[in-house]
Amino acid sequence: MHLHEFQAKELLQRYGVPVPLGRVVRTAEEAGAVTYQDFVLNGIRAIVLKAQIHAGGRGKGQIVHADTGEPLTWNGSPVRGVMLAREGNIADKAYRLALQMLGNRLVTTQTGSAGRRVRYLLIEEVLPIAQELYVSITLDRSRNRPVLMVSAEGGMDIETVAAERPESIVRDHIHPLWGFQAFQARRIAFRLGLPNELITPFAELLQKLARAYEAIECNLLELNPLVYTTDGRLVALDAKLTLDDNALFRHPEYEPLRDVEEEDPLEVEASHYHLSYVKLDGNVGCMVNGAGLAMATMDMIQLSGGRPANFLDVGGAANVERIAQAFRIMLSDPNVRVALVNIFGGIVRCDRVANGIVQALQQVAVRVPVVVRLEGTNAEEAAQILHSSGLRFRVARSLEDAALQVQEALREAGALTEV
Ligand code: GDP
Ligand code: MN
Repeated sequence: MHLHEFQAKELLQRYGVPVPLGRVVRTAEEAGAVTYQDFVLNGIRAIVLKAQIHAGGRGKGQIVHADTGEPLTWNGSPVRGVMLAREGNIADKAYRLALQMLGNRLVTTQTGSAGRRVRYLLIEEVLPIAQELYVSITLDRSRNRPVLMVSAEGGMDIETVAAERPESIVRDHIHPLWGFQAFQARRIAFRLGLPNELITPFAELLQKLARAYEAIECNLLELNPLVYTTDGRLVALDAKLTLDDNALFRHPEYEPLRDVEEEDPLEVEASHYHLSYVKLDGNVGCMVNGAGLAMATMDMIQLSGGRPANFLDVGGAANVERIAQAFRIMLSDPNVRVALVNIFGGIVRCDRVANGIVQALQQVAVRVPVVVRLEGTNAEEAAQILHSSGLRFRVARSLEDAALQVQEALREAGALTEV
């Protein structure tokens, strides 16, 4: 589960991570009023407005008009997802900038060309930056433990740093039982070549971050940049947290942080039925049981010249209702040109799946060919149910056969790419 920057900062602050003074607003009027009351009246002369969307690259992103898609400008320069107001009447500037940003769309390298609608702005005090650093903690699956990555070249995207100056990234792992040790934190600080007065505060901050990562139960904690200010403070200028979905059941307090408007509507709907559904950008919908079979099925689709439109795992214990919902969700993706059902009936019996499919097909108009492969427990009964439903299916006998049928159906639909 992704969080907005302001939510991430609020959580991190509880673990002693310093963040800039900030306020969240939803309207331009609020932006103006808050800037005046909470910043100008507190002697703050410069603020930054930051669009809150679930994607990065905002600083270089472009705000476009919500309806026309036209890029917006401010005094002749592009309106970005991060804008500074630092001279003159900053409350008035905040108001006018917020008018441009809120309700419009922000396009960044991570959003796709449609961008994301900006519904919140985070207003923060501008800090005088001496140096920008990069810090992240994420799970290193190949080592089965979290990895800390730190670089003295913050501010730019870490992929670029990793490609161009890999030696500038310092890595260290967190032992699952021992935790992150003080000596490791100091070692990282030394390896980065930080000035002496920064070694201790930086090492202490790393330890706070490691504690936060574990307590919050994240997949990713990233500060880019973490800044060293000219007045000698370390502050998280940007923060990104991705919560571990598998640990969410332990954290009912995170539920209000979910922003469903930032998520794919079909994925949100699927989660109501406890279906594992991940939208992909291909044209073959695939409904499968079990993650392994899902992977194999996606490979097979790819080999037959299609591209998976989704990853839909109905799991082992699907009932008729859930199968029907899964099928309906899969078909409601407009990119789906062919639907493939590939179920190995073990605990979930094939006849139940067949009934689910038939039930779903009675509720929704099917505009695409459906290839069905049901194998395992009660496969015979399933074939009978499909046959007597009077609906049209392409029945496949094996995985290879299913691949061929998908290929054929794609060709007929004129949606086959090269094989
Ligand atoms: P991102 O582009 O989505 O990662 O958004 P960031 O929060 O990282 O902001 C992008 C850039 O805006 C930062 O790297 C800074 O250069 C600049 N920026 C953001 N806040 C401040 C600030 O308080 N002071 C200064 N001087 N620059 C800032
Ligand atoms: Mn950033």
